[in-house]
Amino acid sequence: MTSVDLTPTHSGDDHLLDREELNRRNIEFESATPTEIIRWAADRFGDRLVVTSSFGDAVLAHLAWQAVPGIEVVLIDTTYLFAETLWFADHAAELFSGRVRIQRPAEDVTPDNQWLDDTVGCCARRKVAPLAEALQGNAAWITGLRRDDSLRRATAPILSNDLLRGVVKVNPIANWTEADVDSYTIEHCLPVHPMTGRGYTSIGCWPCTIPPRDESDARSGRWAGQNRTECGLHD
Ligand code: SF4
Repeated sequence: MTSVDLTPTHSGDDHLLDREELNRRNIEFESATPTEIIRWAADRFGDRLVVTSSFGDAVLAHLAWQAVPGIEVVLIDTTYLFAETLWFADHAAELFSGRVRIQRPAEDVTPDNQWLDDTVGCCARRKVAPLAEALQGNAAWITGLRRDDSLRRATAPILSNDLLRGVVKVNPIANWTEADVDSYTIEHCLPVHPMTGRGYTSIGCWPCTIPPRDESDARSGRWAGQNRTECGLHD
């Protein structure tokens, strides 16, 4: 149903890492701090580095702003985000003098009911395509993906080559747990997303997010009943 063009938009792969370096750095980064990993990425890729956050919490954004002052954090706004999420991103940026850039779908993606019967196509137009736009011309992408998000993410590496998008993907908190996130939030007095207190453990778009149906699976409230827990950004 979707007509989104997922053809890689990069013009060259010279920034991708060879297997030897990927293996070596993944071993090394398992015991590095997220700040060290983010700084390595900034040194290596310079201004061709994009940080994205869904702002379900402020941890990745705060780490990025502390590691690389002035760096922008991109929020993909499907136009169906909860108002609380937009407020929270703005609030966190103001508190920590950070910068947030909102990346929205193309102009011709107008409000519709596609999410009612085609969530895969809707995510492709409203999430995957804007991410591709944000990554265009860049060499690396920093995300807040964690192994304890879900079983599917349990073996995610810290560093990988995202061959579809032609960028190096950096997951600096891949080996953090929910408890690590909570500790960091408390230690650095970070704000908490207003919906966290209402039982939401993973926060996406309002049509496709409810509190988790299974307490042991933080993402079980996303696309509930549809046998999917990923939107296509991390497939
Ligand atoms: S999460 Fe739901 S509303 Fe948001 S882009 Fe995907 S299908 Fe559309």
